[in-house]
Order: sequence, then structure tokens, then C-alpha cells
Amino acid sequence: MEREGAIRRIDLGDGKAYYEVGEDHHEHVRCDSCGRVAEVPGCVLDDATAGVQKSTGFVVTSHQLVFGGLCPRCSESRARA
Ligand SMILES: [Zn+2]
Ligand SMILES: [Zn+2]
Repeated sequence: MEREGAIRRIDLGDGKAYYEVGEDHHEHVRCDSCGRVAEVPGCVLDDATAGVQKSTGFVVTSHQLVFGGLCPRCSESRARA
């Protein structure tokens, strides 16, 4: 059940869908090694919206941002290997 504005579907591009409550916007970071997804508190892109609107002419109402990298567990095991 997907109600506009209540639950947001986040597609991280790997075929899996994540859901979050719309009012609690935050970014995500995904581990390239184990696929674990963590929440990045707050929004890091507020300032970018104006630039995107200016360069594309779109009225930007949302975005999804996924950082990639290694989670603490994977970066630790990689350092040991
Ligand atoms: Zn990992
Ligand atoms: Zn954001």
C-alpha cells in the first residue's frame, strides 16, 4: 500500500525496494561488499535542489541519494585480509 506522501518507496537500483516514512527524509549509504544499507541522518542535498532546477528547468520535489562504500565491518575485514 503506497499512499502519496506517507510512505516513500526508495529504489536503490539493485532491484530491492526500501520504504520509509515521508516526513523523515534522509539519505542512504550502501555497502558495496555486503549490500547493507544504512541511513544517513538528515539531508545533504538541500543546496543542490536550486542548482538542479536552474540547469534542467524541472521543479524538483524529491530526490534519492545513495552513497556507496564499505560498511565498518567490511572495511575492517578488508584491512585485515
Ligand atoms: Zn559491508
Ligand atoms: Zn536529501
